[in-house]
Amino acid sequence: MALKKNDEIELKITDIGVNGEGIGKHDGQAVFVQGALPGDTIRAGITKVKKSYMYARVIKIISPSPDRIEPACSLSKKCGGCALQDMSYSAELRMKENKVRSDLIRIGGFPAEEVDRILKPIVGMEGDAVERYRNKAQFPVGTDREGHVVTGFFANHSHRIVPVKDCTMCMEENVVITGAIRDFMAMHRISAYDEETGKGLIRHILIRKGFSTGDLMVCLVINGDSLPHEADLISALSAIEGMRSISININIKRNNVIMGDRTENIFGQPFITDFIGDVKYRISPRSFFQVNPAQTIRLYSKALEYASLSGNETVWDLYCGIGTISLFLAGHAAKVYGVEVIPEAIEDAKQNAFINGFDNTEFFVGKAEDMDYTGFKKPDVIVVDPPRKGCDTLCLNAILSAEPDRIVYISCDPATLSRDLKILTAGGYRLLEATPFDQFPRSVHCECACLLTR
Ligand code: SAH
Repeated sequence: MALKKNDEIELKITDIGVNGEGIGKHDGQAVFVQGALPGDTIRAGITKVKKSYMYARVIKIISPSPDRIEPACSLSKKCGGCALQDMSYSAELRMKENKVRSDLIRIGGFPAEEVDRILKPIVGMEGDAVERYRNKAQFPVGTDREGHVVTGFFANHSHRIVPVKDCTMCMEENVVITGAIRDFMAMHRISAYDEETGKGLIRHILIRKGFSTGDLMVCLVINGDSLPHEADLISALSAIEGMRSISININIKRNNVIMGDRTENIFGQPFITDFIGDVKYRISPRSFFQVNPAQTIRLYSKALEYASLSGNETVWDLYCGIGTISLFLAGHAAKVYGVEVIPEAIEDAKQNAFINGFDNTEFFVGKAEDMDYTGFKKPDVIVVDPPRKGCDTLCLNAILSAEPDRIVYISCDPATLSRDLKILTAGGYRLLEATPFDQFPRSVHCECACLLTR
């Protein structure tokens, strides 16, 4: 008999979905269950029935998966911040490696034997130390039912804020910083933004820390063009050790994009500095910077290894951000070009080249897919590091027409990576090696570095 809402079934979970949800089969139909793990047998309550699949919730775990652990965070069930708190770290790494493998086969169209040959073991956190790895946190600001200001993370599939004072993935300093901002707002009756009405002032708090320098940055995203009683906030925050930069970012648009285009520095410098290896970077509020410094050095070292530079090469670094990879490679190449869409990031990249003493780099603002590459020297190596949606087809075409000897593709989404690798291999390149990196422990996201040759 067909199942309907509220029916209960016993379900063995055999797989895991893209958002970390458990997947079981009932009469040949997939059942998706948030909070269930492969290896669990559960009593499931059907919550929604679709044509060929269903959603259910865990009513009871009848027999737990061997991979199940006690979550390190007491908010893990409520908070949508990280999805894999219930899973042992070794199972998490296995799952991520499998995801890369199956996407390469399913989406990339690579034969399984080939994938088994080229796919290297995932590089996980040293000593399985998965806590406090993030150097950046973005807290939405809202109001609870009693009218108190809350800061935290959105609940799963929702824009309801779960108050989180100390996220164990993030820096300890967040506790005092967000506390000072909540106190400041309460004292001066400054309102939090309300997504429903578009009213209220404070939208988001962005906090960054340079792990090797101890520098701290705070950027308040506001729905307005000034912050009342700004001096009081500056005085509270600047007393925190390491505070180097306080800014406000203006975002008056009613959308889901966190930051607006205008940022105004109100204390210290408009940036903080950090190091990756020997290279020094200055980082502005809106610029992208890898969030897991312990793993970034390993990822970039792999990119350097894959680029296989002797000192004579020309490198194009597309989606270069603040020139992080460009400068990591610049000491080993003759010339490096960087392309990036955010103007402040390119400003940072140029400054970064200067403070590190590199005179063999050039940086350009623009979309990788629209850039006019005619003035660029012919590349020996092209590095791409796009956001989750992967490379635009026009960008892939530009890469193929430039005919580099090697392509180093750094990706934060194995699905779009596999899609793009299919195009690059059809265009005359061979996938030689792929190494997954766990940049985002406890989340479902997985990074991967790939080497292709012509
Ligand atoms: N390689 C850098 C940044 C990688 S993140 C690092 O490792 O730090 C991806 C970067 O691509 C971001 O800086 C983002 O602003 C930029 N970006 C997004 N879409 C782009 C596009 N169409 N063209 C160029 N850059 C883009």
